[in-house]
Amino acid sequence: MDNGNLFSFFRRITEIPRDSGDEKEIAEYLLSFAKERGLEAVTDEVHNVVIRKPGTSGYEEAPAVVLQSHSDMVYIKSDDSSHDYQSPLKVVEKDGFLSAEGTSLGADNGIGMAMTLAILDNADLSHPPLEALFTTDEETGMDGVNHLSPFWLKGRRMINLDSEWEGIYTVGCAGGVTPVLRRKAEWEDAPSDWQCFRLMLRGLSGGHSGVEIDKGRGNAIRMLARVLYAAETRLGICVSTMSGGSKGNAIPDYGEAVLLVENADALKKLTEEFDTAFRDELSASDKNVRLSLEPWNREENCRVLTAEVLQDILMLLLNLPVNVQTMSMHLKDLVESSNNIGILRCDENEITITCSIRSSVRSLKEMMCNQMVALAHGAHAEIGFSSDYPEWAFCEDSPLRDKAVEVHKKIYGKEPGIISIHAGLECGFFKEKYPDMDMISTGPNLFDVHTPQEKLEIASAQRVYRWLTELLAELKD
Ligand SMILES: [Zn+2]
Repeated sequence: MDNGNLFSFFRRITEIPRDSGDEKEIAEYLLSFAKERGLEAVTDEVHNVVIRKPGTSGYEEAPAVVLQSHSDMVYIKSDDSSHDYQSPLKVVEKDGFLSAEGTSLGADNGIGMAMTLAILDNADLSHPPLEALFTTDEETGMDGVNHLSPFWLKGRRMINLDSEWEGIYTVGCAGGVTPVLRRKAEWEDAPSDWQCFRLMLRGLSGGHSGVEIDKGRGNAIRMLARVLYAAETRLGICVSTMSGGSKGNAIPDYGEAVLLVENADALKKLTEEFDTAFRDELSASDKNVRLSLEPWNREENCRVLTAEVLQDILMLLLNLPVNVQTMSMHLKDLVESSNNIGILRCDENEITITCSIRSSVRSLKEMMCNQMVALAHGAHAEIGFSSDYPEWAFCEDSPLRDKAVEVHKKIYGKEPGIISIHAGLECGFFKEKYPDMDMISTGPNLFDVHTPQEKLEIASAQRVYRWLTELLAELKD
């Protein structure tokens, strides 16, 4: 199989430091690559780069195709590595894989860039006019694509090369937003003769709120609220603090509260009841879940949240949408909408709740936002929304997808996988800026990306490169 200069371009890319936000040097390399070959290239203030190459003989009038990858990488070092960020990565080949000694390899998305450069460099291929787009800062905030001019690209067919499963074509992604609810804290003195305890929920599996939201895993913050609500209504309690989770986009795997109660035995009994109920409910997903209670040192001048504040917070935590809300009717097993209650924090001034809404249908995302606004209003809380990113909705009519599948079947002799994912991709931004863009996303097998163990399967990259060149040859009209 002729891979052109695929792997020499890949190795060249690994010599250039390009952690997210530091893409100037890689952009200069791309511009000089274009200049040496007499190709038109442009860049912008955030170092996005587009290189244009005319269609080959017989393809001059074909509609242009955009090949897109991102030029930044997640640079991660192992604890014992002495690698200096500025020096080339130490690429190692072993058992059919490439990896980097002591650091991440940056095949996410360096291999997508290398495929694109190998195609631009190769005079023996047949292809329509190409626009090779390299975006920046994909890994931390998608700033490159966010800044991209809606007038840069002429092509309306895009192949995104930032996926990591060979033979799987992504045809849609979720949009999302981060709601943060804030309820003012109000305090009063704790009843003087009540005993103090710490209630702890541990042993949950947690996980990514996009990838693992449909696994039925327990949300520690919601579960903590259930216990507190039952304790409050049955026994009467006061709460001096409560917290859970550490990231908006991670399913919280722990939660805890410090509370005071008059009848300690009744609280112990209620804790045991819930411990049993949780183990029963979550025996398939979180078999190590454990709710426990321990005596806690009562502070001098102990203060607790007023009954009204506690009621408002528990009302929110029990009613905010959590986990899967809707499933797709187009693609099997695809979560369409979800919400994660990710972080609960309580400080002197306020109690904050951070969520993560996702949906591949914009109107459903808006519906969940409105639901939260209404709930916040009822709970005397303020609500703000940040980190909004657009969805890429599944498109029934996609000639590019049909061609990609046809070429796949010819090469591999079997049907490919067609998926949509419940997480954000740059493609959502492209769809927003270029609503008539026909897109697919794919790439070769990568393992353990964003870790020092990251590796690229060499044969897989060769096959995907072949698929890509054959697909381009098919895109004559
Ligand atoms: Zn990537």
